[in-house]
Amino acid sequence: MDGKALAERVRGEVARDVAAIDRPLGLATVLVGEDPASAIYVRRKQEACREVGIEPFDHVLGTDTSEEALLALVARLNADEAVTGILVQLPLPEQIDEGRAIRAIDPIKDVDGFHPVNAGYLLQGSPTFVAATPAGIMELLAAYDVDLLGARAVVVGRSNIVGKPMALLLLAEHATVTLCHSRTRDLAAVVREGDVVVAAVGRPDTVTADMVKEGAAVVDVGINRTDDGIVGDVGADARERAGLLTPVPGGVGPMTIASLLRNTVRAARYQSGELAFPRG
Ligand code: NAP
Repeated sequence: MDGKALAERVRGEVARDVAAIDRPLGLATVLVGEDPASAIYVRRKQEACREVGIEPFDHVLGTDTSEEALLALVARLNADEAVTGILVQLPLPEQIDEGRAIRAIDPIKDVDGFHPVNAGYLLQGSPTFVAATPAGIMELLAAYDVDLLGARAVVVGRSNIVGKPMALLLLAEHATVTLCHSRTRDLAAVVREGDVVVAAVGRPDTVTADMVKEGAAVVDVGINRTDDGIVGDVGADARERAGLLTPVPGGVGPMTIASLLRNTVRAARYQSGELAFPRG
């Protein structure tokens, strides 16, 4: 499943949407600290914004930034009309409570969909902003006509930003979903049941060929830096058995960014009143 090609198409659509909106769109990115991977992700998001006509507002804070200082910046961005969406790149340094930082973002600007208000709407089946990685994966599965209705879907990894929202989105499309984690007994047997498998763990070879049902659609979310370069969570041998597989890189990563851009357009529509954002 070629995420790079699909993401290019999505960016084209987003660029047309942005041009049709009669106010400038801006995405504020907040990076705290010097994690090199986070810096790369933020730069890619900013480049993608420029490509589609969204202005990126770059905020880089030192590693020793206090929680108070970060919350003050987020409050300023909430009030700034030029800022359509706000993204606080995770992980944050240990002196900052991630939950508090995310809850500080005005839900109507929460383009990552991590605020409990937006996560709650997804849980209840009325999605507002959906976390970009699982949203991008759903678009990829749809583009490749993966039939989810009644299918067995197995998600490995239960984080708030990937695994849990992924399971909810698959459930909303009427898959029968199993959500696995580090305490799952006999992971291989569970994964082997999956017509659709999403691996979001952060450990190479978590899913190997013997765990994949012949012809399954396998989505590899993992990004692992190894001596051989960047690899996913799905072993190279699983490629033979899977009917469809996302490459790493070039699969989920580009779709994550494309979904973030879509969410920024959605934020503009909520803020103009073109779409109703549920309040109160
Ligand atoms: P995370 O918060 O560290 O969560 C990892 C999950 O994997 C946890 O739920 C953990 O279980 C589970 N796990 C750990 N070891 C396991 C094992 N041996 N068997 C089964 N499950 C196991 O990670 P994340 O933020 O969801 O990210 C996961 C991976 O996706 C990372 O490599 C990350 O870099 C990548 N990622 C990629 C993109 C992209 O755009 N391509 C976006 C986001 C994340 P417990 O809950 O029991 O600890």
